Amino acid sequence: MQLGCHISVAKGFSKACRRAKELGAESFQVFTKNPRGLRPKKVDYKDAEKGVAFMREHGMTLVAHTPYITNLSTPKADLHEVTVRSIKEDLHIAETYGAVGAVVHCGKHVGEGVESGTRRMVDTLNEILSEYEGDCLLLLENTAGQGSELGLTLEELVRIREATEHPEKIGFCFDTCHGFAAGAWSEDFFDNLVRVMEETGYLKHLRAIHFNDSKAPYQSRKDRHEKIGKGEIGAAALAKFLRCKSFEGLPVILETPVDHEDEYAEEIRYLHQLKREETNV
Ligand SMILES: [Zn+2]
Ligand SMILES: [Zn+2]
Repeated sequence: MQLGCHISVAKGFSKACRRAKELGAESFQVFTKNPRGLRPKKVDYKDAEKGVAFMREHGMTLVAHTPYITNLSTPKADLHEVTVRSIKEDLHIAETYGAVGAVVHCGKHVGEGVESGTRRMVDTLNEILSEYEGDCLLLLENTAGQGSELGLTLEELVRIREATEHPEKIGFCFDTCHGFAAGAWSEDFFDNLVRVMEETGYLKHLRAIHFNDSKAPYQSRKDRHEKIGKGEIGAAALAKFLRCKSFEGLPVILETPVDHEDEYAEEIRYLHQLKREETNV
């Protein structure tokens, strides 16, 4: 397991790599571009190369995250076009940064119904991936199920992946907060979650974990991240993830609310403490 956190890339990619290292992160995540915008990003290839070399030297793993405002299931032609163009670009940027994958949120059916939304999502994924030949995976993230979000259950995510023409180009990212809010797991059902991951074939394609506590209660279908141990999931339940052999080797990324990135140094130390089995929480 490589414990780490989300890092701002505002000052350039190679700076973000150094920053992650300073905070004690063994893995980290960056946005491919402004998360609330879709403006094409000019990639500084020289700086990216520097960052990739630094990551290699220190054995760090990177996960990239695509902007929030795309919708893989949109019925609107213009947003569909922008979504395809933007995520294709995100894959290119993620690959340039040496990321294992680019996280993308599942589609929202916006009133068209789950079936229709799922079909659109599969078609859009096909369009995005048909010409992509790089080695960066598109990572589907499970959702809390806010509004008309698709992708609440592992079974649904596996079905979507398998329905595409390019399942080999798709992996998964599991968010602990979203899973809890969607009712996919809780402390009492942790073993069941791991079993479902194994039985459905989800685990084989799991490439990253977003590690967050939740401000909102179990099955609330609200996406509200909280610091580890301060939310409704609690430290004891989250520690099970850190100690589970099935997740060995995966990047575990904090996306918890902080006023300043520096605060992650302490939270990463806390994760190491939780991971040690003798610790009572
Ligand atoms: Zn997440
Ligand atoms: Zn979230």
